[in-house]
Amino acid sequence: MSYREINEEHIRKQRKKYFKSSKFKKLKKERRKKYRQRPEVKENKRKYYENNKEHIGNRQKRRYKLPEIKERAKKYREDNKEHIKEQKKEYGKRLEVKERNREQGRKYSQKQEIKEYRKKYRIKYLKSRNGKKCIHNGRLKYKERIRDIIHNFSYDEWREKVLETGGLCPECKKDVGVDKLTLDHIFPISKAPKGFIYTIEDVMPLCFSCNSSKGCR
Ligand SMILES: [Zn+2]
Repeated sequence: MSYREINEEHIRKQRKKYFKSSKFKKLKKERRKKYRQRPEVKENKRKYYENNKEHIGNRQKRRYKLPEIKERAKKYREDNKEHIKEQKKEYGKRLEVKERNREQGRKYSQKQEIKEYRKKYRIKYLKSRNGKKCIHNGRLKYKERIRDIIHNFSYDEWREKVLETGGLCPECKKDVGVDKLTLDHIFPISKAPKGFIYTIEDVMPLCFSCNSSKGCR
């Protein structure tokens, strides 16, 4: 009798033990991973998914409703916040995703209630400090573009100067309110040489009528 036949029972036990060992489990895991990475296996998986999209989707939906799965997903999200963020970023960079998002955004902004909301919000924004700053800087930038000059002062500096007047126009002494005072370049920009730098000392607040009559001079 061979060794194998004599020790059949022993070999069987040994084998069973080996299959339960962590060494074997690790090996199995690695083998499976390698198998899944084979191009033809990947391709087959993709094909299967393409052909059974609906079925797979429904199965997953059902699965996600199970309480233990919900709990596990929640825990995963909490433990891998950074990783998920990173993945989302990568996903958003994909061309087809970008195109889809753009399309959805277009549809969204065409909705009547969204249009109305934006209109309302815009009015509110333009009355806020940031909105006023935005308008102010926009006007100066526009003048810089068409006249090739530079404004070297901040919105806050200008605002301070306006508030100092208390809403009175320095020229005609009419009380027009701080929000109605406009920016006047003391040395007119039409006569300024190329690259002329306007500091806060070179501008002053004037009411609209004073500013426009000065512009004609
Ligand atoms: Zn005035």
